[in-house]
Amino acid sequence: MPVVDLQEIQKTYGEGTNRHIVLDRVSLTIEAGEYVTILGPSGSGKSTLMNIIGCLDVASNGVYRLQEQLVHDLSEDQLATIRNEEIGFIFQQFQLLPRMSVLQNVELPLIYAGVSRKERRARSLELLERVGLTDKADALPSQLSGGQQQRVAIARALVTRPTILLADEPTGALDQKTGKQIMELFESLSEEGKTIIMITHDVNIAKQARRIIRIEDGQVTEVTT
Ligand code: ADP
Ligand code: MG
Repeated sequence: MPVVDLQEIQKTYGEGTNRHIVLDRVSLTIEAGEYVTILGPSGSGKSTLMNIIGCLDVASNGVYRLQEQLVHDLSEDQLATIRNEEIGFIFQQFQLLPRMSVLQNVELPLIYAGVSRKERRARSLELLERVGLTDKADALPSQLSGGQQQRVAIARALVTRPTILLADEPTGALDQKTGKQIMELFESLSEEGKTIIMITHDVNIAKQARRIIRIEDGQVTEVTT
């Protein structure tokens, strides 16, 4: 059974002559443990697709099953829990909270999930160790380099042990060398069995995954396995 099952997904904006099709009947299934990149030029609909997969946005038409649940039928509360606990989001601009320490940033999803203080601490420190930032636990994000901030964001994304890691241009704000280190981290997470969906406009980054899905003008044009 696929983790992500999108059938004929459409996303449109506007009405009548102003109607603009952003995703045009996208069908796609992703199995547990896959490492997939979605490759396409700027404006092709990648972030829109990622937001639908991550339940941050809803499709205008079509059917989306996430772990066999019909997303359309879920309540706002259920969607909020899925966004916090089942999906680990990683963005180009890291999106850490600037006034919170590195450790507090990583702990945050566990606070929302109602995990006890002691377990929060233990799991967050374990993840910081995993990304090599134990010594930065008490630092503020602004005291870290871009690559380190993205590692914190990855630790935060992993802390709830989500089903899917969803990354939108995760190396887009990093220099090449730092970007490569981040890609190595994704590679090792994939080897550990994580399901990873990564969005990129960079073909060299896309090639790191086992499977590349091309999107152009809102249509999936090619699926490589
Ligand atoms: P990508 O991530 O591939 O660069 P996006 O998914 O961000 O592309 O955007 C795809 C298209 O959808 C673009 O033409 C963009 O202008 C349009 N779009 C995205 N969000 C909205 C919105 N809220 N309202 C209208 N058009 C939008
Ligand atoms: Mg985008």
